[in-house]
Amino acid sequence: MSGKLFVGGNWKMNCSKKQADEIIAMLVKGPLSKNAEIVIAPPALYLEYVKSKAPAGVDVAAQNCYKEASGAFTGEISPAMIKDIGVEWVILGHSERRAIFKEDDALIGAKVKHALSAGLKVIACVGETLQERESNKTEEVVFRQTKAIAENITTWENVVLAYEPVWAIGTGKTASPEQAQEVHLKLREFLKKDFNKDLRIIYGGSVTGKNCKELSAQKDVDGFLVGGASLKPEFIEIINARG
Ligand code: PGA
Repeated sequence: MSGKLFVGGNWKMNCSKKQADEIIAMLVKGPLSKNAEIVIAPPALYLEYVKSKAPAGVDVAAQNCYKEASGAFTGEISPAMIKDIGVEWVILGHSERRAIFKEDDALIGAKVKHALSAGLKVIACVGETLQERESNKTEEVVFRQTKAIAENITTWENVVLAYEPVWAIGTGKTASPEQAQEVHLKLREFLKKDFNKDLRIIYGGSVTGKNCKELSAQKDVDGFLVGGASLKPEFIEIINARG
């Protein structure tokens, strides 16, 4: 809870130049809290456009990248390319990448390693499914996913960990502030104990203008990764959750 509130906006596969212009106009108008670190993630095709228009203080992230610098990997983009257009961040390990595109822990770990070595900053995502939560496997799953990421990291200052329970993503079901706090604290203790590292842990999963204040008041919630609401005016409220 100390330091700036980190607020990521994951646009997912939603964008047009018109929509990008509208969201940027909303951010320009703000007002945006000086106490927030803001990173928006448009689809790859729009990265350069959004980067050229984003107001000062709003950084840009890719939503994914591959684990190699270049080569015969049709359809992929590399961290070097993201850096080349002046974008500094990438989201890796999002649950949609894991579930729909079958990315496993090993691939995500390799991507994190390569992205960091190429000089990008990383928002690395972990989170359990509803079935895993209901069978009391939350801790086991998020620790396993976090370990696969953590083992590949030496430059920790460029990493933000996003806890995103899969059952809360895009469902309108948010983890309660207590549920989020409980997992964030466990993750923090796990990272401290096994990796000697304390880092920013942000929450994702149906964050809205309505629930952001209470969630952001939790001791171990350092910010948010916002999907749907990052396309709407309430994103400004979320950025300003802590005033
Ligand atoms: P949501 O998505 O806010 O639409 O639930 C969050 C995310 O997937 O990062």
